[in-house]
Amino acid sequence: MNNIMNYTKLELENELVQLGEKKFKATQIYEWIYKHRIFSFKEMSNISNKSIEVLEKNFQFDWIKIINVEEDKLTKKFLFELTDGEHIEAVLMYHDYGLSVCVSSQVGCNMHCAFCESGRFGKKRNLEAYEIVEQILLIEKYIGQKIDSIVMMGIGEPFDNFDNVVKFITIMNEPKGIGMGSRHITVSTCGIIPKIKEFGELPFQVNLAISLHAPNNDLRSKLMPINKVYNLSKLIDEIKAYITKTGRRITIEYVMLNAVNDSKECALELANLLKGLNAYVNLIPYNETNANDFEKSKSIDMFYDTLKKQGINVTVRREFGGKISAACGQLRSKYEGDLND
Ligand code: SAH
Repeated sequence: MNNIMNYTKLELENELVQLGEKKFKATQIYEWIYKHRIFSFKEMSNISNKSIEVLEKNFQFDWIKIINVEEDKLTKKFLFELTDGEHIEAVLMYHDYGLSVCVSSQVGCNMHCAFCESGRFGKKRNLEAYEIVEQILLIEKYIGQKIDSIVMMGIGEPFDNFDNVVKFITIMNEPKGIGMGSRHITVSTCGIIPKIKEFGELPFQVNLAISLHAPNNDLRSKLMPINKVYNLSKLIDEIKAYITKTGRRITIEYVMLNAVNDSKECALELANLLKGLNAYVNLIPYNETNANDFEKSKSIDMFYDTLKKQGINVTVRREFGGKISAACGQLRSKYEGDLND
């Protein structure tokens, strides 16, 4: 039986029609689940007993579970157990402008970026759309508040799970449900070019962030194996095409690694690469882990100033959750590590 939260409203309408039910029931179900947070068909009081029977026979609510929460002042980090016993994580962040959640899109990751913990165990499987939706629903329930924005920057490569990620966004967008505006959602990719193209052709205005992390092919290939498949110059061309097609500004993420990619030369090279592009650079202070020798850059200010002087829009990401292993895959791998000891 399929989880009812694994359907976009349109899919649910089609499914219901197949079952001999009226299309509009999809709207009612959406309102019960996402507006009123009622997770039992029996409690959906405007739906007839006969229809409830059909729903119960064909759909279910199965839940991922919160099994651990680590907290500091501005962050809460949630570890979830999936119904097959796998683990993922999500991070809630309190910003001046509201609450955001960083969700996972896969169990593990196959991209194997040298500095990133998420790929240490490879990819186990993709998440279903409902498993991403439930990260949001469970966090909202836990804190008793609504989330304002979502970033897909947790475990996994969203564009390696494209269809389920698009389905998740469609479910979040649905006005009869949560109704979160596309502009409040950001998807981050390591640069899977064909999917960037496909993403640009979708009808919604979701923000796109690209993990660049290096200003030339040599260095980028060392840090990010994906660069050997989709190299930097092709990636920049695709980004240009995306900006032209969508008219949207994109974010360039650049994780600041000590004595690796943080020199003045790197900054100048990056500025040169991005000149004239409708993009802004987000410098990410590296969150150190025991699993590798990368260190946080000591030259973030210099790097920032150099980019600024070259006319590049740049910000430094506020550091969230360093103390609670909140960076990409750290909580899960800590947990899996414990299991493997
Ligand atoms: N696969 C997607 C989303 C994953 S993570 C992507 O590559 O964009 C979101 C961002 O955090 C990526 O830019 C990733 O490179 C970066 N990141 C990974 N490990 C980190 C760490 N320990 N400290 C800081 N940033 C990290």
